[in-house]
Amino acid sequence: MTLDEGPRLPGPTGRCWCGCGQETGAGAYFRPGHDKTAEAAVLATRYGNSVVRLLAHHGFSPEASVVAEATDRGIWEVCPACEYRGAPASVTVHRRKAKH
Ligand SMILES: [Zn+2]
Ligand SMILES: [Zn+2]
Repeated sequence: MTLDEGPRLPGPTGRCWCGCGQETGAGAYFRPGHDKTAEAAVLATRYGNSVVRLLAHHGFSPEASVVAEATDRGIWEVCPACEYRGAPASVTVHRRKAKH
């Protein structure tokens, strides 16, 4: 992780970061699934449920591709057999399912 991937985070405190007030497992920021709840709530409260607004806010557009940045910086990988792009673990799952 580099600094421009986001602010430095404090370590997990044992309380879920979605704000539900529940305790988490050791070393975890979220209860299972609550990260997706929080992610959806950010999209709803800050970007009007619009991924386009989220992208534009961060300077991305069809000409300034967020996916290209992710792969150019080596954060994401490109499947060697097709156009699929994703996190290394996602590419591994994709290749197993696609059998290539
Ligand atoms: Zn929670
Ligand atoms: Zn592929």
